Amino acid sequence: MEDIIDGMKDNGARFCDIRREKWEVSHLIMKDGGIERMASGVEEGAMIRVLYGNGWGCVGTSALDRLSEAADRALGMAKQNDGSKSEKTGLGDVKAIQESVEMPMKRDFRDIDVEEKLSFMKELYGKLQEPHVKSVDIHYRDSFVEKEILNSDGTHVFMNIPRILGYVIVTGKGKTIQKATEGFGAVAGYEGIENAHTKAEAVLKRLKDLLDAENAPGGKMPLIMDNHLTGVFVHEAFGHAAEADLVSSGSSCLEGRLGEMVADESVTIVDDPTFKGYGSFPFDDEGTKARRRVLVDSGELNDYILNRESAWKLDLEPNGGARAEDFRVKPIVRMSNTLMMPGDMKMEELLEQVDRGIYAKSTSGGQVDPTQGTFQFNAQVAYLIENGEITTPLKDVSFSGFTLETLKNIKGLTDEMKTGVGHCGKGQSAPVTDGGPQTLISDVTVGGR
Ligand SMILES: [Zn+2]
Repeated sequence: MEDIIDGMKDNGARFCDIRREKWEVSHLIMKDGGIERMASGVEEGAMIRVLYGNGWGCVGTSALDRLSEAADRALGMAKQNDGSKSEKTGLGDVKAIQESVEMPMKRDFRDIDVEEKLSFMKELYGKLQEPHVKSVDIHYRDSFVEKEILNSDGTHVFMNIPRILGYVIVTGKGKTIQKATEGFGAVAGYEGIENAHTKAEAVLKRLKDLLDAENAPGGKMPLIMDNHLTGVFVHEAFGHAAEADLVSSGSSCLEGRLGEMVADESVTIVDDPTFKGYGSFPFDDEGTKARRRVLVDSGELNDYILNRESAWKLDLEPNGGARAEDFRVKPIVRMSNTLMMPGDMKMEELLEQVDRGIYAKSTSGGQVDPTQGTFQFNAQVAYLIENGEITTPLKDVSFSGFTLETLKNIKGLTDEMKTGVGHCGKGQSAPVTDGGPQTLISDVTVGGR
């Protein structure tokens, strides 16, 4: 790999890197107690990137024995792109590092046979058998990835990342048909699914409440988001707008606002790959050392999520925000573990402030527009708040607004934090965690779906 890097440099490359990956993956799906899918495999490959002039060439290949041919193709592609491009580009400086990190596993899931994984799923399925449950899907996935990144600036890093994920979808039937979902996972070994049973209890309770739920009122009112929904809000409505590729291309409502108050002063938002979550990594996919990024510091916009190219464009320091789904694709700017930091209030103190409002839990989808800075979320289940008390369960609650206005309307944050796991889509899939405290917002537009 070093010879290939040297060869590309000798042929005029301004910059080049090679990211070699080996994936060991196991994937199981159980539907109503029967095995629906069982797949496992090992895959290897590499992505070569070359910057020539102002043109990029990126080639992914699984033919590791023919890497130098792939390098020639990448260089040719970069030369062509340089010729057809007038816009200048560059890479923000990062310190070259030579390091190796293995993220720990207590129980290596590669040593656990499929029968044990299936019996875990069967047991979980058993736990989800209640009269109100009509159908249960359980997904299990573990992946062990080994990465080596080498670049023409002298960086050479190795890392091992084990990831484990599970989620359940339960469907129930009462007067209507309703669905509730819950996920669990971590950068960890098989021990990462230990909390699956508590998640099963939560999803059953949510489904039960949904089946008994009434239609939601509409209008402007205070709303409390639970921890999970706070996490989704922070990731979707704020986090995507803080991705520097959107900022540098003029597609983010946060463009040009560094140093401005964009939220209430009680609000601090971080994106932290060093936090123990499902989106953790020691180095990003450009080989930049991972670090905690304080995006909003006590209400003030403090940083964006940056890869090397967007950092160059915005004249900021790269902060390890480049991630790729696998060796077939080039890294782009992505979140990792995105968190709203807790406040200092108890849930009772949030509720005391609400005469009539909504307590919204978890999400079943929605839409955001990071350019306009608008969002719309559907709560999985919600409850009416009357005179500071949580009362009737509500279904089909959706709420919407302007992200920055909503962040300024935050009136209280509880003093604890919970996180959820998921995969973020942005052309490529990335494992992420999001989370935060329970959050009281004044004046939210609430409507039926
Ligand atoms: Zn996302």
